[in-house]
Amino acid sequence: PLKKYFLGQETPPNKRVTTCQKCIRTPDIENVGKTARHGTYFEMLGNFSFGDYFKKESTRWAWEFITEVLKMPVDRLWVSIYEEDDEAFDIWVNEVGVAPERIVRMGKEDNFWEIGSGPCGPCSEIYFDRGEEYGCGKPDCGVGCECDRYVEFWNLVFSQFDSDGEGHYSRMEHANIDTGMGLERLACIMQGVDNLFEVDTVKNILNHVSRIANQPYKADEKKDVSIRVITDHIRSTTFMIADGVMPSNEGRGYVLRRLLRRAARHGKLLGIDRPFLYEVVDTVIGENEVAYPELREKESYIKKLIRVEEENFARTIDKGMELLADMLSGMKEGDALSGEAAFRLYDTFGFPIDLTREIVAERGVGLDEAAFNRLMEEQRSRAREARNRGEIIGWTDHALDFLGQGSTSFVGYDTLVHDGKVLGILKDGEEAPAAAAGDEVTVVLDVTPFYAESGGQAADAGMLTGPEGRVKITDCKKDRTGYFLHTGVVESGAVTAGDTVKAEVDSVRRRATMRNHTAAHLLQAALRKTLGDHVHQAGQLVNSERMRFDFSHFEAVTPNQLAEIENEVNRVVLEAVPVAVYETDLPTAQKEGAMALFSEKYGDIVRVCKIGDESMELCGGTHVHNTAELGLFKIVSESSVAAGVRRIEAVTGGGVLKLLHETEQTLREAAAAAKATPAELAGKIRAQAAELKDLQHKLAAHTAADVAAQAESIVKAAVPVGSVRAAGAKLPDLEPNALRQMGDLLRDKYPDLVAVICSQANGKCSMLCVCGKDAVAAGAHAGNIVREVAALAGGRGGGRPDSAMAGIPDPAKLGDALAELVPVVTKVIGG
Ligand code: ATP
Ligand code: MG
Repeated sequence: PLKKYFLGQETPPNKRVTTCQKCIRTPDIENVGKTARHGTYFEMLGNFSFGDYFKKESTRWAWEFITEVLKMPVDRLWVSIYEEDDEAFDIWVNEVGVAPERIVRMGKEDNFWEIGSGPCGPCSEIYFDRGEEYGCGKPDCGVGCECDRYVEFWNLVFSQFDSDGEGHYSRMEHANIDTGMGLERLACIMQGVDNLFEVDTVKNILNHVSRIANQPYKADEKKDVSIRVITDHIRSTTFMIADGVMPSNEGRGYVLRRLLRRAARHGKLLGIDRPFLYEVVDTVIGENEVAYPELREKESYIKKLIRVEEENFARTIDKGMELLADMLSGMKEGDALSGEAAFRLYDTFGFPIDLTREIVAERGVGLDEAAFNRLMEEQRSRAREARNRGEIIGWTDHALDFLGQGSTSFVGYDTLVHDGKVLGILKDGEEAPAAAAGDEVTVVLDVTPFYAESGGQAADAGMLTGPEGRVKITDCKKDRTGYFLHTGVVESGAVTAGDTVKAEVDSVRRRATMRNHTAAHLLQAALRKTLGDHVHQAGQLVNSERMRFDFSHFEAVTPNQLAEIENEVNRVVLEAVPVAVYETDLPTAQKEGAMALFSEKYGDIVRVCKIGDESMELCGGTHVHNTAELGLFKIVSESSVAAGVRRIEAVTGGGVLKLLHETEQTLREAAAAAKATPAELAGKIRAQAAELKDLQHKLAAHTAADVAAQAESIVKAAVPVGSVRAAGAKLPDLEPNALRQMGDLLRDKYPDLVAVICSQANGKCSMLCVCGKDAVAAGAHAGNIVREVAALAGGRGGGRPDSAMAGIPDPAKLGDALAELVPVVTKVIGG
């Protein structure tokens, strides 16, 4: 963050600065948990001089701080310098008083700082000897050894040269100082603990992990590595999310995703079979909230985001792990997993290659990464080709050949009508000298006011009018070399290569599109204001009808928030804020605070769209001149697109009017249908609903009364058989379910009754026999009775003693069958 001061692009707030900075460093990731001194997250303390004090002061003060303030024993301290930096040697020995044998000279790789061109210089590092017990025991173990005995904890960088990036160094007039001291490494030394993760403020996180894993720390070295990896990764990811990083498949979002996945996998290695990382966030926040209160503010957001990642990953990993285990099962140490296998895991299961790499390494198996990379590259180029094919309708390389290298110059930011020369015509995928009425064509012009689809803004439509005819343009795309491809139909006459045509953009449509594009910028600003700085554009589509804006945010935007966002955008609309669009270079734009898309690659010259103090974004699209042109802004919907990505659709200007008209129309139709005025509509609907409910109650009561009456008439006709009564009846048009309900009623209400009731509905005839409690006690059995009675009408059935059903294929014989009921019941009871 301070580079701009070193480069002189900006004036620092002070010539002397001290900092404490959060750092994420992943080149050390393989070491994390294994060495005592590496984390992916740490806090770096630094002191800086921008052309103020230099080598002598920084060296003396560093020594004073560690020996007099921190009181580190001098006999444990070592110093390294760049091999050619005699000046540093002289200062350490003669000014500071360090014993010459404690100073080690090292090469450019270790002790010279440079990144490309610009300020650079030698550095000098201070080491603490933690004692022989931490050493590797090799005879040449010493400062610079990869083991954990000599720990570098402070690096003093003397940026005294300006490099041209090609090996030429010139001494700078105002040399700078840039130092970095890892807070965790320092604490580790001062507290005399074994590693970074046992430092007091980190240890509680480690303990939390070990509790969840039910795995005591320091019982099993391999498990300890996993516990430390999780401890580290949950710290880094918590801070990254709090700082606005979202998991994704590229850039820093991928760094975050990878760390979370790695931590989740180490959880699995510890036998944890559920999402758990989000729980550990509690302890991370508890240990850090005093210095970083924003962690507590974003607590629920951080936890939710981590939890969703864990759950998604669990699904991926389970499938992938199983498959990988299969692939590895037949292999022995020294074998290598094929690139095809690794690619299949990646391609079909989304199983990350880093994970495959780590797992095979743990098994002592190799991995054919060259083959994997080749397959990845092939896939990428396939995707690229498909994209090109899809994007450029009917355009082929052949067509590009005849045009050669070149491009169309776009004048549509400033004008909507312009003359252009027809450079080429494409018809049916072939170059054509001319096209006539009815032909579908693609026309390339040297100059055009037509906006070609890009950055989410839809293409312009309009008309090309030449000396001999007109082409109605419905789409416009940019090809790889920069030609604008206008696609449409020749409406009348003909168009010939070489013609000069008047290219005219449909201005109503374009202006509507511009309104929606400017609205998208205002929406993003309002979202960040209302929901927080984690909101970033994740995709957008603006055309003349509406705007669709996707953004990173974790939960549904509430109706209240939506109202607030809508009001905020409309405030800016109604304040009639001027919109300035201008070109500048990227560093200047960034310095001024323009928002850029993280994944986007920008050229040296960028376009900035600045809406007063409300919004500032890099943007190649077209915009209105004043926010008042939007008329009004109305959100139409809010929804989810993917985990952590929400979508808002909205309209402006004529779109709002159209929406109003539609709503009005719907309301009018509803009112007409309800025979009310719009104002009476709600009351009328409430009254009708109440009335309907009342009628339903009444109907139900009537039905119940009907059924009861029917049941009574069945019982009236019952014939006594011993201690029970038997009744048979044919009932009209009852579905089997209604028949069963009737049966239940008879059985429950008349305990001594044996009833056989039949009914025909939908062409199917069913017979049901029910026996009341006392009837069953007297020996009646519905299953047996229905079997015999149904058999008389050609049917089959059976069931429980109190209720049984049969199908009757021959309803004509029902009467005869029911006539036999009394003898059958007599027989069943008697038997
Ligand atoms: P090493 O060689 O031990 O990895 P380094 O040379 O990469 O260290 P620098 O880039 O000089 O370290 O960083 C400055 C200081 O930041 C170091 O002296 C150390 O205190 C701290 N530091 C660097 N990397 C890490 C890390 N991965 N974890 C914790 N602290 C670190
Ligand atoms: Mg390092």
